[in-house]
Amino acid sequence: MRKPFISANWKMNKTSEETKDFISSFLPLVKDVTEVDILIAPPFTSLGIAYGLLKDTHIKLAAQNVFYEEKGAFTGEISPGMLVSAGCSFVIIGHSERRQYFKETDEVVNKKIKIARNNGLEVILCIGESLQEREENKTFEVLDKQLSGSLNGVSLEGITVAYEPIWAIGTGKTATPGQANEAHTYIRDWLNKNREGADTLRILYGGSVTPENIESLMAEPEVEGALVGGALNLTVLLK
Ligand code: PEP
Repeated sequence: MRKPFISANWKMNKTSEETKDFISSFLPLVKDVTEVDILIAPPFTSLGIAYGLLKDTHIKLAAQNVFYEEKGAFTGEISPGMLVSAGCSFVIIGHSERRQYFKETDEVVNKKIKIARNNGLEVILCIGESLQEREENKTFEVLDKQLSGSLNGVSLEGITVAYEPIWAIGTGKTATPGQANEAHTYIRDWLNKNREGADTLRILYGGSVTPENIESLMAEPEVEGALVGGALNLTVLLK
């Protein structure tokens, strides 16, 4: 049995002050929740304040992105070493919003995963199909391509996979528990077939997870957690 893992991706939301207020009122609510791993991924500008509040707690801190070089003339980018020094232990890589708006390919995602792991960061790798791809019955083909491209030459230690169908992210349209479980089963089989050490890896579902639907999603045998965007108050999800 893998330990459930609930992660919050704040996207481009919350100033430093809002981060301080949110985490300060969130922490007392989750202080006794130890049967679930909890992670928060605030924007880069809030990492410092978040780390100050989280460092002596069981809540993990993640960045939402990283660049694939160690340092240099890459204006506006953030290196893995900078994330580690800011207190991050995790980084989200390959989110569909990065793929869609910033044209991140599986090759770029792969480079980011490698440099993140080389710097000791654990990775939440996001994959998932578009609505058109689902309607054309290409879901498994897309997952196969994203898994083989993103994980090329990568060992599974320190990797979590988040299945996030693009049509479900921020749309209020959640995958049914059955659809989520089917995709997770495909991912689990792919990992077992193609990589060593898939046993301990967790597969999270992401896409319009809410307090109303989390229980039925988590009841599926292959759903081991959630990556949550919109429903920021994780505590309701943990009840
Ligand atoms: C996400 O950003 O990873 C996500 C799943 O967003 P939402 O929960 O809002 O669909």
